[in-house]
Formats: sequence, C-alpha cells, structure tokens
Amino acid sequence: MTELSDAEIVIVGGGAVGVAAADALARAGRRDILLIEKESSLAAVTTAQAAGLVGQVRSSIDRVRLAMWSVATFGELERQEEARPSWRQVGSLRIAATAERAEEFRRLATVADEAGLEVLLIDAAEAARRWPGMRFDDATSILWCPTDGYLQPYDLTMSYQHRARRNGVRFATGVRLEEIRIANGRVTSIRTNRGAVRCEMVVNAAGAHAYHVARLAGLELPIVPVRHEYFITVPISGIRPDLPAFRVPDQTLYGRPDVNSLLLGGWEPEALSLDPRSYALAETPPPIEEDWPVLSNFAELMRPFYPAAPETGVRRVMSGWPTFTPDGRFIIGESRRVKGFVMAGGCNAHGVSGSAGIGRHLVEALTEKDPSPYVRSLSPDRFTETGWDWAEARRQAQKVYETYYAIGH
Ligand SMILES: Cc1cc2nc3c(=O)[nH]c(=O)nc-3n(C[C@H](O)[C@H](O)[C@H](O)COP(=O)(O)OP(=O)(O)OC[C@H]3O[C@@H](n4cnc5c(N)ncnc54)[C@H](O)[C@@H]3O)c2cc1C
Repeated sequence: MTELSDAEIVIVGGGAVGVAAADALARAGRRDILLIEKESSLAAVTTAQAAGLVGQVRSSIDRVRLAMWSVATFGELERQEEARPSWRQVGSLRIAATAERAEEFRRLATVADEAGLEVLLIDAAEAARRWPGMRFDDATSILWCPTDGYLQPYDLTMSYQHRARRNGVRFATGVRLEEIRIANGRVTSIRTNRGAVRCEMVVNAAGAHAYHVARLAGLELPIVPVRHEYFITVPISGIRPDLPAFRVPDQTLYGRPDVNSLLLGGWEPEALSLDPRSYALAETPPPIEEDWPVLSNFAELMRPFYPAAPETGVRRVMSGWPTFTPDGRFIIGESRRVKGFVMAGGCNAHGVSGSAGIGRHLVEALTEKDPSPYVRSLSPDRFTETGWDWAEARRQAQKVYETYYAIGH
C-alpha cells in the first residue's frame, strides 16, 4: 500500500483514462503526481468491461488525429517488454449495407486521407480473404483500415502505469476521495478515507462517478452513464486472434475475434441511461443483468454477415456504465470557476481507445497558452457557463449513444 503524501497533482480514478492522464502529464515533465483509486486494483470498473476495439476512422479530422495519436502510443507501449497492452494491429473492416452508407464511407475515406490515415475501399473478395467465413455478398461498400486493431484494456492500463511509475508517478489503491477543499477559488487539498492530501490540482477521471467528483468542487456537469453490453461466444472453428476487427454500422454492430471466439456488441436503439444524481459518490451504479433480448438481437442482426453468430453458445457477457455527454464530446480541461479542478471524463464509450489522445489533449489544455480550438471546445466551461436542464441533457446523451453509428455522426 502506497503511503499517502502531498502532491502537486492528484488524479482521481485508476481506469484507462486516469492512468493515461498520469502517463501523459509525467511525460510532459510533471513530476509530483499521485493517482488515487478507490478499488483494490486499477482498471477494475468500466475499463475492465471494454471490448478494446481501436478504430481511427471518424467523421472529423480532429477525431481521426486523436485516434491516430492513440494508435501511435499503443505501438510504443507494445515495445515496452515489461508491460505490454497486448495491442494487435490486425486492421479493421467497416461494412456498408446501404447506398447512403457507401456514400458515407467515401466521405470518411476523404477525411482519413486529409488526416493522413491510410484507408482503402476494397471489394467483397478481398474482404473475404481478410475474414474467411464472413459473408460480404450484401455489402454495398467495405472500408479497410490496416492500422486499426484491438487490445486488452486491463493490459493497456498496466502498461501506462509501468511507464508512469518510471517517470515518478505514485499510485495508491483502496483510497477513496471524499472531499475537495477549495480556498479563494482554488483547490488546496482533498480528504480521503485514508487522510488528507494537500495538492494544487485535482484531475477528475472518476468515470461513472465523475459527476459526483465535480459536485465536490461545486460544479454541475451533465455526465450521463448509459448501459452498454456485448457478448463473447464459445470457440468457433476458423476464428483466429489475427483476424481483423469489424463494424457493421447499418446494423449498429461491432466485433472482433476473442482468441478463437467471436466478440459481438452493438448500440441499442433505445438506450438505458442513469441520472447520476440517483446514486451517491460512495455508492456504485446499479448492477446490470444480462439483457438477452438485446444481446440475441445483436446476434440476429449479424446473421446475414456471419450466419454462425446466432447459432453459437455464449461464453461470457460484459457490460457497464460508460458515460456520455449531451454533445458527444469528451470533457477535458481546467474549470474557469475553480482553479486547479481539471476534468478528464465524459468519454462517450471510447475512453480506452481514446485514452492516449485524452492524455495528450489534457496536457495541451493545461500547458499551452493558446490551445487549439478543438481542445478549447472540450472544456467543462461549456456546461458550467451556460444554462441546461437534466431532462434534456439526459435525452441528448442517450441520443448520442443511440446514433453512435448514424450517418455523419
Ligand atoms: C461493454 C463495454 C464495451 C466497451 N467497449 C469499448 C471499446 O471497445 N473501446 C473503447 O475505447 N471503449 C469502450 N468502452 C468504454 C470504455 O470502457 C470507457 O470509455 C473507459 O473505460 C472509461 O475509462 P475511465 O477511466 O474514464 O473510467 P473507469 O474505468 O470507470 O475508471 C474510473 C475509476 O474511478 C474510480 N473512482 C470513482 N470514484 C472514486 C473516488 N471517489 N475515489 C477514488 N477513485 C474513484 C473508479 O473506481 C474507477 O476505477 C466500453 C464500455 C463498456 C461498458
């Protein structure tokens, strides 16, 4: 158990985002960083459930570049012998089933080109060579991104931790934040279940508790947990770990090999969200029961592309409460209202793949005199300095989830 001691920066939350933030800040030269995590190990909550898909094809250049930064980081971390993220750069297939989607793929390919990301529109025969057993007869277009892939979210977190520790970051598990003390509009210290820590900055990377941690600093932020789930089948003959990840956006599906099994998930048309005010900082969000109608529907939707999907037994269901924001953007940066209170949350279900990019944006937000317009657009001030109401914010956040693969999203 690490002894608690004062620190310049305290990061709250040891999921992929908090540990990536620690790594990025330490690499940017900040030496006095303490990360606290309430659970007995890191990556124990939402990060533990993630599918680990890493996709760089996005609808805006900024978001493609952010994802490319993450991919470059995963490559670096994979060379770290002592703790690798189990990064498999197997590529990804994006499969269109309608003419409108094929048109969208052409636009996505243009955005990728402008951002410097290699993508190719390939035919069904080429796609079938890349994933034998998958059917592409009904595909109207297939977009191949050779540098996409997947990783193990727990391993990634350990890999960040290894590098951050080498740069002097201290990690304390079993430590729960209970209070943030502020004087003259500035963070001065925190109180935890293991005592007080003086600090100049608190980075809120508390995942589904990021709303509550922001409240401790007197800020109201619309960080909405939305249920998400996927399943892993029993082994299927022909599936190998080096097959690519795939997405079928018209069916709102994504997947990848999980060793010799199929991992299949999707975005639900009617999202189930939580009002974060309905549980306290010291409580956990409600447990999630397997929703078999939803999971079976994913398998059925996959049938035309992979007939074995609905016919194969399920080995494991994974689920959690990733957080969404009403505008679908991360919340990153220091609050104008409380100096030293910094956000790193609202990940809209790409906090694992986006973690390295989030770390980079955090460093930019904190150290650059003139951060880019994109980084400025992620500031928590966009919610604390404007009027909004919870019912509408929750509806919008759900819509971001439900339209995750909508054309132009
Ligand atoms: C089923 C599923 C599939 C997903 N698939 C993908 C995917 O393929 N790719 C992708 O990029 N993302 C995916 N996601 C989303 C991804 O899991 C999240 O975006 C990411 O894990 C968020 O990381 P985090 O560090 O913000 O949150 P968490 O991992 O939840 O970490 C927050 C941490 O803060 C700690 N904490 C909270 N309160 C306190 C306190 N008071 N004191 C101290 N510590 C505290 C918690 O214990 C927790 O460990 C998926 C999510 C789910 C549920």
